[in-house]
Amino acid sequence: MPELPEVETSCRGIEPHMLNKKIKKVTIRQHKLRWPIPKDLPALAEGQRVKRIYRRAKYIILQLETGNIIIHLGMSGSLRINSSSTAAEKHDHIDIQLSNNKILRLRDPRKFGCVLWQETDVEQHRLIKPLGPEPLEDDFTAEYLHQKADRRQCAIKALIMNSHIVVGVGNIYASEALFRAGINPKRKAGNISLPRMQKLVDAIKLTLSLAIREGGTTLKDFSGIDGQPGYFAQKLLVYGRTAEACTRCGEPVKQFTQQARSTFYCPKCQR
Ligand SMILES: [Zn+2]
Repeated sequence: MPELPEVETSCRGIEPHMLNKKIKKVTIRQHKLRWPIPKDLPALAEGQRVKRIYRRAKYIILQLETGNIIIHLGMSGSLRINSSSTAAEKHDHIDIQLSNNKILRLRDPRKFGCVLWQETDVEQHRLIKPLGPEPLEDDFTAEYLHQKADRRQCAIKALIMNSHIVVGVGNIYASEALFRAGINPKRKAGNISLPRMQKLVDAIKLTLSLAIREGGTTLKDFSGIDGQPGYFAQKLLVYGRTAEACTRCGEPVKQFTQQARSTFYCPKCQR
């Protein structure tokens, strides 16, 4: 599943091809994604200039002159920039053709993604309004997380993966950040001191920043903007390393299931 770093990488990858270009034509081949693509999207978007491209949580926002196209990649979606002569393939559900004759193409075999229209403020959209702050922005602080964790009985891993608390900390990055911070994923969120929350917030920011710099972790369903599976596999510290030696202390990395997801940690380094 594309996580925040992959979505950020997609945004940065498509921006130079799309920014300030006009949308010439929108072709929808399959309306039935997680939510239906609005039938009037071509009429709403065609002829408009792309003013800004940015990410909010795992949504990619194309800000046009009179509204916004909101794209989510779901479980298996990816964006490509193609030339107008490249034939669409089976899972290429929507094309947004630009005035430079390039095409932004969404491929989504499992159809859990979405392409929606929001005329007014994107922050007011029903999918975006309930979301917590961005992990890489200044308002995501140790004080904020400590206050949100107050008296909570849930595990710290569940707390940082809760998008109402903070967005974009997916399963891989949660395990990695908790390892960097030396915090046991099972520890009750409400029992973690402010200085340890500071370590965790710093670790989340570092983990995500490094992944963005690497162009996102390679996952089997994600491929790069140019259609090549070109991202480097990121060096993961604990994720997927069951029974291998901890990079810090040499003890075997352990795995267990938490909220139906695999968690990896070092029982010696993480308390
Ligand atoms: Zn260790």
